[in-house]
Amino acid sequence: MSKVKRSYYEDSYQKELTAIVTAVNDEWVELDATIFYPLGGGQPGDTGIMTGPDEKAHQVLDTRKGDSFDQIKHQLDTDDHGLKPGDSVDIAIDWDRRYKHMRMHTCMHLLGSLIPVPVTGGSVGADKSRLDFDLGEHTLDKEDLTTRINALVAEAHPIAFGTITEAELDEHPELVRTMSVQPPRGVGDIRTVRIEDVDYQPCGGTHVNNTSEVGVVRINKIENKGRRNRRVHLLLE
Ligand SMILES: [Zn+2]
Repeated sequence: MSKVKRSYYEDSYQKELTAIVTAVNDEWVELDATIFYPLGGGQPGDTGIMTGPDEKAHQVLDTRKGDSFDQIKHQLDTDDHGLKPGDSVDIAIDWDRRYKHMRMHTCMHLLGSLIPVPVTGGSVGADKSRLDFDLGEHTLDKEDLTTRINALVAEAHPIAFGTITEAELDEHPELVRTMSVQPPRGVGDIRTVRIEDVDYQPCGGTHVNNTSEVGVVRINKIENKGRRNRRVHLLLE
């Protein structure tokens, strides 16, 4: 099985790519390289368009990881697409949606940096997102958090991407903030995201290059999910 090239890691801003079909299973199509992010780590799979050699454009409804880490599957709107291994296809992501995911996902790191307790879950959406915290004795204030998160955005912190080995990560377990989303193991080095002077952690999602791109953020609700747990909801304005 050939290993898919994850072009969205080299450049999360790439909107189009020409790739070769490597496998087809009904409406699911695998490629040798992709800019489509597959559902994972609380971030939705990308949607967009895949155009085959016959110039027919198909909607990509979703993107998922395959059974192996080497696979990424694009779900087309039909299994009658006529694509076969070896075909060259032009792919384009729904950039407006993905860019919102990148801004939101980056925003989740900012929020996490302001609340130094374990994260127990989370979900990134184009319009709204949420992050769950095991709060313990900490308290949260909606207005205060909104002010502080927008300050981090305004400070325009650059964001850099790197990798860490599994052995290095084992030596620094405190880097993994989320109990529910652990980085994948046994597949080589793990991707890291560093928001300069703010946050550093392993993360496989897509992010913007500078916090200033996040835009205006509003914490619109803090929900009580039990004695210790709080769900923080946020919107981009
Ligand atoms: Zn992330």
